[in-house]
Amino acid sequence: MAVHNATGVAMHSLVSELFPICRSITGNGVRQSLKILQGHLPLDIVEVPSGTQAFDWVVPREWNIRDAYVKDSRGDRVVDFHASNLHVLNYSTPVDRRVALAELREHLFSDPAHPDWIPYRTSYYKDNWGFCVTQKQLESLNDTDYEVLIDSSLGDGSLTYGECLLPGEVEDEVLVSCHVCHPSLANDNLSGISVAAHLAKRLLESPRRYSYRFLFIPGTIGAITWLARNRDCVARIRHGLVLTCVGDPGNFHYKRSRRGNAEIDRAVAHVLGIRDAPHEVREFLPYGYDERQFCSPGFNLAVGCLMRSVWGEFPEYHSSADNLNFVTPAALEESLEVCSAVVDVLERNRTYLTTNPYCEPALGRRGLYRTTGGGGIGQENLARLWILNLADGAHSLLDVAERSGLPFALIADNARELADHGLLIEQPCSTSGES
Ligand code: ZN
Repeated sequence: MAVHNATGVAMHSLVSELFPICRSITGNGVRQSLKILQGHLPLDIVEVPSGTQAFDWVVPREWNIRDAYVKDSRGDRVVDFHASNLHVLNYSTPVDRRVALAELREHLFSDPAHPDWIPYRTSYYKDNWGFCVTQKQLESLNDTDYEVLIDSSLGDGSLTYGECLLPGEVEDEVLVSCHVCHPSLANDNLSGISVAAHLAKRLLESPRRYSYRFLFIPGTIGAITWLARNRDCVARIRHGLVLTCVGDPGNFHYKRSRRGNAEIDRAVAHVLGIRDAPHEVREFLPYGYDERQFCSPGFNLAVGCLMRSVWGEFPEYHSSADNLNFVTPAALEESLEVCSAVVDVLERNRTYLTTNPYCEPALGRRGLYRTTGGGGIGQENLARLWILNLADGAHSLLDVAERSGLPFALIADNARELADHGLLIEQPCSTSGES
């Protein structure tokens, strides 16, 4: 493997910094995580009170946890929240009792297929208490009484999310969203956060045509709450990506928006297509991450979901094996590069009209037809011929890249050069978000 460069290492170290925090859909874990992100980007932290209506949903009570354990008769912690926050059923109600093994077992969750792993379970919308344990822990319990304590609280408070808007030349927006509600899980949750944060850092330092809105929100209820509070700015969202599971070394997967052929869908498919690596583009499905809410029929936003390994399809998913070893600096950095290439397509996609529609302009006379010496036409010359041929005012540069099979960056660079020579006229920007 290539030597990791500084970016990948920084991305992994952000994942490591966030990893120990016990997050949930509400509570101090999310706040603490967002405060760490404020060290990287100008992030607003928004608090929405429990009980607030958000379309058909209500912002739930705030959950916080300090300690949890199962103690045996000798007073030893046989299950300990401080060893892993996955040991507690996320959103568990408080409990402080002595229970017999039979009752305890009704509240224990394990995964017999992976006897050393702690599964991750939640109970957000049904009051319950419980512990998640390895199969080995479960089997080591004796038929005796145990002391169980979950020092948690569920009460009026708020739902917390982070939002960062980077204004561009135009108000039209690109939305980048990731979830922040999982506890110590690296790929599912923290990888998306790290890639989004580093993409924001990168955009902060570059000129931008579009405005970029980054959301760090608890899954489902966070997206629904944000959409309910921001109905007015939704119309400005032209393109969007949900980032999740982007830190493992698996192949890239992209799930199309509900529209199916939006510019973002085509941009991601093109960027993945020109990489020399296996990947898969999947059709929209109203299940998965927050693209479900952004693509609900009332909004129908052009938002797709970028992943490496797909949630639910890798064994480590929702278990203690989704840890800091499962995500790598190289994979995180590669995901950032793919996102940057997609942003480059969105930023530079234009439509041109040729000033020479009747036969090809004489490129050689202008020094625009370079002999390659190899006998072939060369990619640069071919790119110019494609651009000129499709510069009929009806085809965008992304259309040219798709039809020619040439990289978008090559097409965009050469279109710039042809325009500089007066051979192309840029057409007014379409703001439909589709081409
Ligand atoms: Zn998950």
